Amino acid sequence: MKVIVVGSSHGGYEAVRELLATQPDAEIQWYEKGDFVSFLSCGMQLYLEGVVKDVNSVRYATAEGMRSKGVHVFVRQEVASISPDKHEVHVKNLADGSERDESYDKLILSVGAVPVALPIPGNDLQNVYYMRGRDWAMKLKRATVEPTIKNVVVIGSGYIGIEAAEVFAKAGKNVTVVDILPRLLSVYLDKEFTSVLTKEMEANGIHAATGETVKEIVGKDGKVAKVVTDQAEYPAELVVEAVGVKPNTKWLADTLDLNSNGTIKTDEYQRTSQPDIFAVGDATKVKFAPTDKPAQIALATNGRRQGRYAVKNLTDAKYPTPAVSGSSALSVFDYHFASTGIKEGTADKFGVQTQSVYVEDTYRPPFVPKDQNPKVQFKLTFDPKDGRILGAQIMSKADVTANMNVISLAIQQKLTVDDLAYADFFFQPGFDRPWNIINVAAQKAQRELN
Ligand code: FAD
Repeated sequence: MKVIVVGSSHGGYEAVRELLATQPDAEIQWYEKGDFVSFLSCGMQLYLEGVVKDVNSVRYATAEGMRSKGVHVFVRQEVASISPDKHEVHVKNLADGSERDESYDKLILSVGAVPVALPIPGNDLQNVYYMRGRDWAMKLKRATVEPTIKNVVVIGSGYIGIEAAEVFAKAGKNVTVVDILPRLLSVYLDKEFTSVLTKEMEANGIHAATGETVKEIVGKDGKVAKVVTDQAEYPAELVVEAVGVKPNTKWLADTLDLNSNGTIKTDEYQRTSQPDIFAVGDATKVKFAPTDKPAQIALATNGRRQGRYAVKNLTDAKYPTPAVSGSSALSVFDYHFASTGIKEGTADKFGVQTQSVYVEDTYRPPFVPKDQNPKVQFKLTFDPKDGRILGAQIMSKADVTANMNVISLAIQQKLTVDDLAYADFFFQPGFDRPWNIINVAAQKAQRELN
């Protein structure tokens, strides 16, 4: 069996890895149109802040390493089109300009997504940057130490925008984060959390310009000079746009069925509308566990899971890809937060009725000295009809983020507040309190539901 995998990031890498593990006789061809295999944008902040020194180490695998395992790796080679009837792809070698056709028995697409560019005047000026991929990582790194860049405007306050803002604030720049929504990180956290985080960011020199719409980027001598919103103007020598991603699928529109947002339509086995073609990662939707409906949730975790399931279902569609809760975590200066599933702020978007309880506690029992016992904020969101767990958020100066994995599992398994109220979680004063904060919140939810 000859399997072609397109894209060398999370989804593609996982598919190749699973093929090597489970299909030892398969001939594997792995294509990447960029000049670098398997860069991990997830590690970009660590590189930009100098924790990781070498940009080339922010990867899963090298071409040489995978070749030594028997994979045929093609770098700077673009799969430009697919002929499903002939079971062939057309390949453009970007290094030498040559072209050829390659046959496949199975084709796995993990072609990912690219940052959305704002359709506003000035967007084509020099020093308008994006935060995705190795090339932008290197440009952003240079910008952190460029003395002529004093003012940075980040457009978009999702986790990527907040990562960019923190990087440049730590590099000593004046940073403004502009977002059309009224709160920073509002897709991830409700206001009990974002009000604290906004203060934390302002204390670290980041100005939050929320509820503002960017109208124009004004330049001088071809370079960015200021960002104009509907309410204010901000000086800027660098703009980082982080307003979302769009799937890299235009070239597939005549070949595969796409969803209205451009993602590739797949079934639960990662099969596309054409036989023997599978798709995974940011170019697809995932089944969102709280609603059991497809949603666009661009996360490495989802791409890797789907990559593995595509291979499991390659010859026989037997294993539906599990639904996901959409969990993510982030540190913002001294705070660590994580969230999963539906929040009060996103319930309308998913057309779901929710009820929530909010609790604050200390990390450890009260006898532990205050400086080692930070506050923990936790919010649990559930279905008011039957108490089914739909989502949660947690934040503290202590790293309590792993609690969110419990909630993610609870969502996947369709557990209720009753299941969590007296669930058995360990207690040790070094780590938590006799009642874990999940128990405390679920018990409160039980009282409010009854
Ligand atoms: P992509 O990463 O988009 O990669 C697609 C690859 O395919 C690219 O290398 C592209 O060049 C190649 N390609 C595309 N078309 C072709 C073609 N026709 N021929 C050949 N090659 C092609 N997720 C998390 O879970 N946790 C995190 O902490 C996290 N942090 C992030 C931080 C940042 C700054 C960013 C930008 C993203 C982060 N993500 C995180 C999201 C995660 O990076 C994406 O979900 C993930 O990269 C998606 O992987 P993918 O395989 O779908 O595609």
